[in-house]
Amino acid sequence: MVVQKVYHCNNEILEWKWSSDNRLMPQPFWTSIFLIDGLLIDAGAPGGVEDLREFVKSLDSKKRIEKCIITHNHEDHCGGGRMLQEEFNIPVFASKLAIPLLMEEKEYPDYRQMTWGINYQPFQAIVIKNLISSKSGKYIFDIVETPGHALEQISLVERKQQWAFITDAVMPKYQMIFGKDTDIPEDISLIFQSIKKLYDFTNGMEDLLLFTSGKGVFKGRSFLKDRMEEINSLHRKAHRFQSEAKENGLLDKQILRYILKKMYTRENFIGNLTKGGLSHKNLIISLLEWPME
Ligand SMILES: [Zn+2]
Repeated sequence: MVVQKVYHCNNEILEWKWSSDNRLMPQPFWTSIFLIDGLLIDAGAPGGVEDLREFVKSLDSKKRIEKCIITHNHEDHCGGGRMLQEEFNIPVFASKLAIPLLMEEKEYPDYRQMTWGINYQPFQAIVIKNLISSKSGKYIFDIVETPGHALEQISLVERKQQWAFITDAVMPKYQMIFGKDTDIPEDISLIFQSIKKLYDFTNGMEDLLLFTSGKGVFKGRSFLKDRMEEINSLHRKAHRFQSEAKENGLLDKQILRYILKKMYTRENFIGNLTKGGLSHKNLIISLLEWPME
């Protein structure tokens, strides 16, 4: 296993990153946990529970975790929830929609078992309200519902500090998406609406910092604006190529292949590795399901 600690904002934010070191993985895939003044955002993957336990034990009283909040129900974000509750008495919060999902056993495909580990431990979380404060009370986070990547996804925004913890709600680039044929049906139109919501919510925050899970920290609201433009452009392209294909008399399956070829040349290796679970094709389907206005 690989663990990295990254400090942000004069050490006020500790990002604890975890990746499996499984040799079959083409590259490390990181999931992040953030610790800010006793507030833990997310609980890592099932495969990282032992490492997370050691991390929690290593914290001095000043850094001691008071509570944890889970941003969404994917196995790489909630894996340590039960361990935190049972072994350290740390209350774990989540959105109303996430709570029943967190109580279920999880079944997920091989490539995700390889990346995030197995044996998810279900647990009961506590419903989060609109606001949550850090241990000393110096930071107050607005809870913003940001569905799309997952229906139950929430983001946390600290207005005074201009921090937004968006974890998986926004990706640095829109290329691939989970499909409707897996347990994680992403919806690109909902993702777009959530990015716009975050953009409006952070109006006036000139120094906004956006924290993603394992994919880096981004500066400025322009990051959100760029993602909206990127998605809009993909949306227009998918529909334009669909019309073109129909004019050429192509049928449904051929239409998808035509659009894929025009937009991406071909499916990339992750699409093949995940047997289409994470694929350009799924993004195209979601773009086509979203009508042009
Ligand atoms: Zn996720």
